[in-house]
Amino acid sequence: SAMRRARIKRTKTVCTYCGVGCSFEMWTKDRHILKVEPQAHAPVNGISTCVKGKFGWDFVNSPERLTKPLIRQGDEFVEATWDEALSLIASKLSEMKEEHGAHSIGYIASSKCSNEENYLFQKFARAVMGTNNVDNCSRYCQSPATAGLLRTVGIGGDSGTVEDLMAADLVMIVGANPAESHPVLATRLKRAHKLHGQKLLVADLRKNEMAERANLYIHPKPSTDLIWLSAVTKYMLDQGWEDKEFLEKRVLGLDEYKKSLEKYTLSYAAEMTGLSEDTLIEVATMIHEAKSVCICWAMGVTQHKGATDTSASISNLLLVTGNYGRPGTGAFPLRGHNNVQGACDFGTMPAWFPGYEPVQDNRVRERYEKAWGVPLPSEPGLDNHQMVEGIDKGKLKALYLFGEEMAIVDSNANHVESAFEKLEFFVVQDIFFSRTAQHADVVLPAAPSLEKEGTFTNTERRIQRFYRVFEPMEGARPDWEIFQDLANRLGANWNYKHPGEIMAEAASLAPVFAGVSYERLEDFNSLVWPVKPDGTSTPLLYKDRFAFPDGKARLSPVDWTPPYIAGEEYDLHLNNGRLLEHFHEGNMTYRSSGITHKVPHPWLEISPEAAEARGVTDGALVRLTSPYGHVKVRAVVTDRVEGNELYLTMNGLEDIEAVNRLTSSYHDTITHTPNYKEMGVKMEVLEES
Ligand code: SF4
Repeated sequence: SAMRRARIKRTKTVCTYCGVGCSFEMWTKDRHILKVEPQAHAPVNGISTCVKGKFGWDFVNSPERLTKPLIRQGDEFVEATWDEALSLIASKLSEMKEEHGAHSIGYIASSKCSNEENYLFQKFARAVMGTNNVDNCSRYCQSPATAGLLRTVGIGGDSGTVEDLMAADLVMIVGANPAESHPVLATRLKRAHKLHGQKLLVADLRKNEMAERANLYIHPKPSTDLIWLSAVTKYMLDQGWEDKEFLEKRVLGLDEYKKSLEKYTLSYAAEMTGLSEDTLIEVATMIHEAKSVCICWAMGVTQHKGATDTSASISNLLLVTGNYGRPGTGAFPLRGHNNVQGACDFGTMPAWFPGYEPVQDNRVRERYEKAWGVPLPSEPGLDNHQMVEGIDKGKLKALYLFGEEMAIVDSNANHVESAFEKLEFFVVQDIFFSRTAQHADVVLPAAPSLEKEGTFTNTERRIQRFYRVFEPMEGARPDWEIFQDLANRLGANWNYKHPGEIMAEAASLAPVFAGVSYERLEDFNSLVWPVKPDGTSTPLLYKDRFAFPDGKARLSPVDWTPPYIAGEEYDLHLNNGRLLEHFHEGNMTYRSSGITHKVPHPWLEISPEAAEARGVTDGALVRLTSPYGHVKVRAVVTDRVEGNELYLTMNGLEDIEAVNRLTSSYHDTITHTPNYKEMGVKMEVLEES
């Protein structure tokens, strides 16, 4: 009936499950989600979504949602009012600051939350609390890509958009699994491959879905990407296949770079990577013959000890072949979380203000000091990894964390949890009583994206608005409102009435967001930063100049870092990654029944040869042990993996299955991103199938 239809509400929102940034309308009645309806004019996805975007929303109404602040009393948590909880936090934080100094407190932001919330949180850490100890989970994923790109081309983000990926002659996917981790992006690539004859080259340990479709699939030995990438680049230079004009006009450092390539001959690379010389030549030839090349990469590259250098070597290859600044070319580090790009862009990083301006730059700092009316710290703060180590050593005394399940997702999770136990004061703000929250002193109930307004920035640097679908569940509050309330209790005078006002402030301070406003982002409109004051987006970077003062790119000399080796008894290599149906640790998707019915557990993939050698049958329960812990998980025998390389899906909510009970605290030397993908394990069969 007309009346019933009248109660149906349609609200535009943006998916929270990956960096692709699909947007759609959500049809609701009261608190029921009737359907998710994509729209043809959605900028990234059009009428597509994946299973998570379509069915992953039940968690919003889960009876397990936090709706009351909790305060620890001994081993128990007791319910408290907002006033009690916030007063306690304010007085504890002031006390700790007084006693141990501003830098004794750390702040961990959320890449699931909005740009405005991340902006306010870094402002809280810097302006109210006086420290740059603020970071987000890009430290666990794409920080090495950001650093590798900052070094070579000057901006730490994708150099183009999905349109460029679609237009490319050749797409290379290195250490990424977009069919499961970035599904709608993969759908679009599959279409370009099938309909426009786009070539696809996949380099991965595991024969994932895109590898099955590739014109060429290569399987280098674990942790050797820098070697084959550099050998291919050297071979192209030796053949005279470089883009000479591009190098001459737009790139610095060729001689030094060439010198660093000397040892990366085809024969050395073949020996180190296990790829034949013919295969390496085939890769070089494919790149040479393509008019435009895009390279996508993700955690298979970045979660290694030498990850920043490998990311830079990808950028080097693009520079040598002139594959930047034209449609259909460029570097595409695929962002994992829906807003990991935005969390970094809006300043939850220890060395940068919003828009990647250094905290050490006096001119920049003065601009913020003037706007915020307080002196600001000039030294970069601690990153996530340094915070955990600081807590462990007793130097960092308190931590404030929101929307981040560190006790499951951080590498060497057992170590992280024991560090949390040493904190004198720990605030966790989340929508569920997460495993991390179990270590807290105060737990604050937050509201998920469907219950608030804001913007997210996807992997393309595209900023999109999401609108409020529901009122916050009674007792829960949007994260930005919580920060404002707390800041004001600590002497600030913030009066943001709406997230749009927070964005306006960020746009007035960070030049790359100059033309960003809520008006320009209305409905399905989007902006791709840098955004000029007149509102012009920059979908394709580096058309005329690279982002350095002289406009020139820099080739980065390469040097391979050997991986961490756990020891001889740990004779199986353990790789890990996402699976299509679940998001990250699973706090949300395991609470969405449409998804959990389909995929209730993670699993371990083992090759037929390793299964036979070790007496593992399909469905057997096995125990994996590393120097840092152990897990129990069911095995699936599959030829997606080869030899002694195992693959554990990472989305394990239950303690026994979570991969990070096994991973170490070793990390990329530049960015401190953990080497999640360099783990040796041993295996025993506990139970036949
Ligand atoms: Fe959401 Fe990513 Fe799926 Fe799009 S592809 S619906 S953004 S999870």
